Amino acid sequence: MSIGARADRMARVRDRMALLGVDVLLLSHGADLPWLTGYRAMPLERLTLLVLPVAGDPVLVVPGLEAPRVPDPGGSFELRPWSDAEDPVDLVVDLLHRGAADRLAVSDRAWATTVLALQGRLPSAHWVEASRVTSPIRAVKDGAELAALRAAGAAADRVADVLQSGGIPLVGRTEAEVSARLGALLVGEGHSAVNFAIVGSGPNAASPHHEPGSRVIGRDETVVCDFGGTLSLDDGPGYCSDITRTVVTGTPSDEVATCYAVLLEAQQAAVSSACAGVTAASVDRVARDVIEAAGYGDLFVHRTGHGIGIEEHEDPYLVVGNDEVLVPGHAFSVEPGIYQAGRFGMRLEDIVVVGADGSPEPLNAADHRMVVIEA
Ligand code: ZN
Ligand code: ZN
Ligand code: ZN
Repeated sequence: MSIGARADRMARVRDRMALLGVDVLLLSHGADLPWLTGYRAMPLERLTLLVLPVAGDPVLVVPGLEAPRVPDPGGSFELRPWSDAEDPVDLVVDLLHRGAADRLAVSDRAWATTVLALQGRLPSAHWVEASRVTSPIRAVKDGAELAALRAAGAAADRVADVLQSGGIPLVGRTEAEVSARLGALLVGEGHSAVNFAIVGSGPNAASPHHEPGSRVIGRDETVVCDFGGTLSLDDGPGYCSDITRTVVTGTPSDEVATCYAVLLEAQQAAVSSACAGVTAASVDRVARDVIEAAGYGDLFVHRTGHGIGIEEHEDPYLVVGNDEVLVPGHAFSVEPGIYQAGRFGMRLEDIVVVGADGSPEPLNAADHRMVVIEA
């Protein structure tokens, strides 16, 4: 992550703090901190907090033993390591008392212990979630972020290609074995971490977030494979991939084939509709209309998609009621599903970016058809 990109993000954050009347932004665990500084805090119990006033110098308060992991700030913030003999809450309160600190925004993922300790010491302060400041900015990706998302998508595609070409034996293997293989392939294709590798077979495919287990995959079953990880092009925090392909072992029943044709039409229509100027909710509506018209509306039990970036799930969410208008740089999944409880299920997912010209740019190109795997 370049010094220039960091300075640009910090300037945009401060503009929005001023707009919202936020005096100080307090960033702890979660994705805002690495997005802004390149430093991803370990989820330790020890306090980590970037104290970023709307005007004035930012200070990153970190456990002393973590300081070597903080990338060179290049003048963008001061580093203040604390030792186990110090009380880091005192340090933060002292920093806050240097200026106006009436309205504070704190990381959505900060520990309650941190927030409650600060609230006890600052009884008159007003608190909001940091995401109110950062989310709309993070949702619109810059050039470096788009490059990282494209690379992550291409790497996930190569894993999907292996799956769809029969390179991963399915019949007679457990879901857990197939999940482990997908994860290993993600790492082999350049991901630094596997975030999930859902494998749901037979009746388990009807549970959208099924935890892959000891079930042995049989013949003539749909198998939902939904996998993704984090890939970094530089020393930065890394960006996420997320793809779902549903394959079938042996021969799909007429019912399965019919459902899949509807799913494919819904997913492709939703992708095509995801242009600048439409609302996030309208993309969800497009997918839902196709599935409802075919009589399967009750079986599409989740929203159509979620934003993606440093986090697997972030703004914007493609869901009923979200009237946020899509703009170039928005990145999100489009992943309708049809789930027949106790029998079978299917989902089809690509990551899509709204391009500079306002048209949708899918980041996944792996075969969208329901591929038959013989073994
Ligand atoms: Zn999901
Ligand atoms: Zn997924
Ligand atoms: Zn997803």
